[in-house]
Amino acid sequence: MDFLIPWVYLMEPLKEGLIKKLNEVQRHHLIRVLRLQKGDPVIVCNGRGKAWRGQLTFASPREAAVCLEGSLTVVTEPSLKVYLAQSLLKSDKMDFVIQKAVEIGVAGIVPFISSRTIKRWHTDQQHKKMDRWKVVIESAAAQSHRSFLPELFKPVQLEELTGMFADVKARFVCWEKEEENTFKKALLETHTGDNNLSKAVIAVGPEGGYSEEEIIYFKSRGWRTVGLGPRILRAETASLVALSISLFQHGDLG
Ligand code: SAM
Repeated sequence: MDFLIPWVYLMEPLKEGLIKKLNEVQRHHLIRVLRLQKGDPVIVCNGRGKAWRGQLTFASPREAAVCLEGSLTVVTEPSLKVYLAQSLLKSDKMDFVIQKAVEIGVAGIVPFISSRTIKRWHTDQQHKKMDRWKVVIESAAAQSHRSFLPELFKPVQLEELTGMFADVKARFVCWEKEEENTFKKALLETHTGDNNLSKAVIAVGPEGGYSEEEIIYFKSRGWRTVGLGPRILRAETASLVALSISLFQHGDLG
């Protein structure tokens, strides 16, 4: 596959021979930014593991369409699905974490509200932010040729977060005060205990960190606190480090 061919996601039933219109964001990117023209190749992906070679059959700034040709085999997804529970951060940092996590191979992102972020989050902004994060996810996934578009969950409270992942065995909370349980040790133990480990979730706190009560709560729900070394990382750094370590440990990165 040519790595320079741009990707677009069409989240609808797709098959060879179909001609599909592109939305405004896709059109802008392909026609205005990348300057593609009628006949230029694109990869069309359904975001659920299937992709097709395609070409632009119509390419104007007001309307663009792709025709789907032969299907493609794309192997870019990690075998371990790692979900990142990210306590809400300032807007630019949140965008950054989401973009990089998608490139690295996150399976899904769950923004959550913790005691030290709550003031910043207004429910009326939720739809606007979610729309923005979806665009960030799609563009990072296209850049990294992800055949599964990572899931974006609506922001939840801590109690809801722990409930959502109650059936996942590998549940980790990154906590800078955890000295005994390193992430490496916790991952090794989890992997040894379950060779078919298919899902994990990592929760990273806000800029101001977790409160003691939140840590107690996580623990009471069976989550394991893990340390990422002796240095205090910024929240966005901690997320990307933890995600990378867990995928590396599972044989995916590197
Ligand atoms: N409360 C801390 C302080 O102000 O010194 C820092 C919080 S840190 C900037 C934000 C989040 O990153 C934490 O809630 C934690 O989830 C994660 N984190 C940062 N450094 C970490 C480390 N060394 N080990 C585990 N988690 C870490």
